[in-house]
Amino acid sequence: MNVGVLALQGAFREHKGAFERLGATVTEVRLPKHLEGLAGLVIPGGESTTMAKLMNLYGLDDAVSAFHAGGGAVWGTCAGAITLATDIAGRPEQPRLGLLNIQVARNDYGRQVASFETDLEITALPETFRAVFIRAPRITDVGSGVEVLARYDGDPVMVAQGGLIATVFHPELSGDDRLHAHFLELASG
Ligand code: GLN
Repeated sequence: MNVGVLALQGAFREHKGAFERLGATVTEVRLPKHLEGLAGLVIPGGESTTMAKLMNLYGLDDAVSAFHAGGGAVWGTCAGAITLATDIAGRPEQPRLGLLNIQVARNDYGRQVASFETDLEITALPETFRAVFIRAPRITDVGSGVEVLARYDGDPVMVAQGGLIATVFHPELSGDDRLHAHFLELASG
């Protein structure tokens, strides 16, 4: 299976490594043409305003929306989850793809020094998953059609809607590839 990792900015190498350990072929996506033939795409963590600006510059905002409309699976982690969201609290002007029916509040778990790890119970995984939160957005509302797959302290931290997944933590940093395997299954389905 061939999956892509958006490679404009942020933690894309770690995602690539996880998929390669699972035997997938990974394309670094920097231009719309790199999406051709892919079953899925990860939008990694990083800085969501910078990432959205670069996506717009290279025409990847429209291309990723079209990729999703054509049946491609898309997984946004942290800044990638912000990029997917329909609603960014207090920042109506921030560019985003707006594909996933959630509201997020940027940096709402605190600053860099407040980064933390915790063991999450995730629907579809039999054992807990070590999750790393780094300046994570909080999912403050989920709209219709959105399924909550994990919560931390009552708030959703992993959600899905059709072929879209968002995690506000960094699954590529725990050395546990089960969520990457889950995404490959979604992308192949
Ligand atoms: N705080 C970043 C943002 O708002 C996201 C942080 C991350 O991706 N680890 O864009």
